[in-house]
Amino acid sequence: MLSLYYDLHIHSCLSPCGDDDMTPANITGMAAVKGLDVIAVTDHNSCKNCPAVLEMAEAYGVLAIPGMEICTSEEVHAVCLFPKLEQAMAFDAYVYERLMPFPNDESIFGKQEIYDGEDRICGKVPLLLINSADISFDGLWELADSYGGVMFPAHIDKNANSLIANLGFVPPDSRFTCAELKDLSHLHRLKRENPYLEKCRIVSNSDAHYLADINEPKLTIEVTERSAEAVVEALKSGGC
Ligand SMILES: [Zn+2]
Ligand SMILES: [Zn+2]
Repeated sequence: MLSLYYDLHIHSCLSPCGDDDMTPANITGMAAVKGLDVIAVTDHNSCKNCPAVLEMAEAYGVLAIPGMEICTSEEVHAVCLFPKLEQAMAFDAYVYERLMPFPNDESIFGKQEIYDGEDRICGKVPLLLINSADISFDGLWELADSYGGVMFPAHIDKNANSLIANLGFVPPDSRFTCAELKDLSHLHRLKRENPYLEKCRIVSNSDAHYLADINEPKLTIEVTERSAEAVVEALKSGGC
């Protein structure tokens, strides 16, 4: 088994709340400088910067997994990761069709910039990405799985936009095998209150919107090989 230093929840400048410096080249370069082995750029309801991120990551020698932080109809945030870019982009198209038809106003919400493999702006996403999609948390694991990916609820210890804050509990028929905490010191209490979490792999990602906030190389994930497939498989296998 290999241990990889990870940060699997990072926002690029495609997220309206992401800093302008969060370009694919800057994120992957910073991950390389920090000594991270694997990252995922997970913009709100969009994978459209993943092609550039994967290209840049390869140049910097960092493994990048294509993904998205979806906002469900219950306004629960969940991270979806995919072994292959094509799977992520197909999922992206599915989610975009179900996004609230509300145009972005840059002056209020911020820019939603798409970058190319040369780290140049090549487009913008017209609909506001921070709204919820018409996709329920119930069935989201199965939906991500049907695209070959894995879903885990994001920052479940936060008191907004999280599974536990928004639904009040972990649905008993849930199938997710991994959960993300912002602050691991909350783990003991959350497990006591939500025994379902005992069977989950617990990860802690930066949810960075600024370069400086990307994870330091402290937490690792055990994988059979250094590949996106192996990381997704490890997240699906549960355990800790
Ligand atoms: Zn979030
Ligand atoms: Zn986030």
